[in-house]
Amino acid sequence: MGFLSNKVQRTEIKAGYHIYTYRALFAYSHHGIFVGGNKVVHFTHHPDTGNTSLDVTAETPTSCRTYPDCGFRQPKSGVFLSCLDCFLQTGDLYSFEYGVTPAVFLAKVRGGTCTTAISDGVDTVIHRAMRLLQNGFGKYDVFQNNCEDFALYCKTGLLIVDKVGCGRSGQAASVLGALVSSPLKLLIPSPAGIATVTAGMYCMSRYASDIGVRSDVVKVRVEDLAVKLRWMDDLKEDESFKSG
Ligand SMILES: [Zn+2]
Repeated sequence: MGFLSNKVQRTEIKAGYHIYTYRALFAYSHHGIFVGGNKVVHFTHHPDTGNTSLDVTAETPTSCRTYPDCGFRQPKSGVFLSCLDCFLQTGDLYSFEYGVTPAVFLAKVRGGTCTTAISDGVDTVIHRAMRLLQNGFGKYDVFQNNCEDFALYCKTGLLIVDKVGCGRSGQAASVLGALVSSPLKLLIPSPAGIATVTAGMYCMSRYASDIGVRSDVVKVRVEDLAVKLRWMDDLKEDESFKSG
């Protein structure tokens, strides 16, 4: 695994890995949990899951000839089971790193490739992914609840309870960081590109929102998650859920 790239071969990934690929010419990454058997559980926007305002991340489940259960999801759920080929489409395969040191985290060029948070065990990770495949993961929102949050949750059980401002994932934080530190071109860094005077600020804002260092994260059992997500929908304006 390279220092600045987490690109891996298919033979290198194991069940329970958090994997991702880049879509739309590196404009954004799509994340999922590899559950073994050439299958990936991932969370994505779908027309009947609610939010249609950010169609850039819309997924079109393709008809898969290899696996009859590829593209499986529960009605109204944005959590899909796909084969690795359909998940990757034409993209490369990357492995998301857990438990990195803050120095490594800050050295990464892009947000959404690693975290200082520690992953739970393989069985726990897969249990969460399969449970959410059955129960759903709430509504898709690129800043509050996206494919990276889904994978982060499966790996760590951590959810951010604050509903304001920064999204909890690196990808959303990157978008925010890029906007805050001005040049929009940071969204799609060129190979030489990101070493600008704003890069430090960009990295710090990213670090500050890493799930591993935030103080407002809570560990939520997957069995309690459906209740939690319903709460968050119902009590958007109510601060009292923070203490619950
Ligand atoms: Zn497939």
